[in-house]
Amino acid sequence: MWTERQQALLRHMGLRVWTPPLAQAAPGAPEPPLTPGTTPAPHVAEPASPAPLRAVTRQTVTPPPTPAVPAAAAMPAGPPTAAPLRPEVAALDWPALREAVAACRACGLCETRRQTVFGVGHPQAHWMVVGEAPGEQEDQQGEPFVGAAGQLLDRMLAALQLTRSTEGDAPAAQRVYIANTLKCRPPRNRNPAPLELAQCEPFLLRQIELLRPRLILAMGRFAVQALLRSEEPIGKLRGRVHRYHGVPLVVSYHPAYLLRTPSDKAKAWDDLCLAAGVARAKEN
Ligand code: URA
Repeated sequence: MWTERQQALLRHMGLRVWTPPLAQAAPGAPEPPLTPGTTPAPHVAEPASPAPLRAVTRQTVTPPPTPAVPAAAAMPAGPPTAAPLRPEVAALDWPALREAVAACRACGLCETRRQTVFGVGHPQAHWMVVGEAPGEQEDQQGEPFVGAAGQLLDRMLAALQLTRSTEGDAPAAQRVYIANTLKCRPPRNRNPAPLELAQCEPFLLRQIELLRPRLILAMGRFAVQALLRSEEPIGKLRGRVHRYHGVPLVVSYHPAYLLRTPSDKAKAWDDLCLAAGVARAKEN
């Protein structure tokens, strides 16, 4: 049975919480309203195939539920052949890196972008989310994940009391830095091309190096390919902890995919709980 707190967290993600008929009938336990604009799964299903790790616990935990974290020895060694940083990018500090991105003309995307989308979040954030590429609204506003997928991402992060905001007095452990593999919007939101990814990668690598996050959440195929150098589908890579240059990395579905496939939100929630457990272990 989900605790009230867990139910609230799941509702943040647009997941309807299934309760057995008896509990539904209990006074004072009405089913919560659905989050507008989402098509909920009939209930919060466990992943169809058993995940290597059980990431969601059903104990009463205040917040969030802490999953089992795999022993370090069980972790894959991790990516191994990340592209070397271009020397001129490797030396840049945050302001210089931002300027270099804004001035970049290394691929054709500079011709169609309105502006570059560098990244957002506190430079000491312990969490880093890596997505794919700016879409139309990101291209307009100059900030990653501000469209519909971004709103879902924010709700998912909020469920773990994480924020991209640089304001306020939240501790670094609750702050998230968000960046994309590409800093410019591909026209009509087409997939990033290999050359574009290769040209842009040094910027992402430098962001990771400057931030030194305690945990990377790689969302979607292109983030995973860039960081893990793996062509494996997300479904095969999620559910365990990878390493990116020593930084624990958790793989999950892209929020845009989750908007199209809400039945996989439960798996994404498992991934978030896994990430939260890893991040928490790093805090101690
Ligand atoms: N999808 C992404 O991967 N990144 C964004 O910034 C927006 C949508």
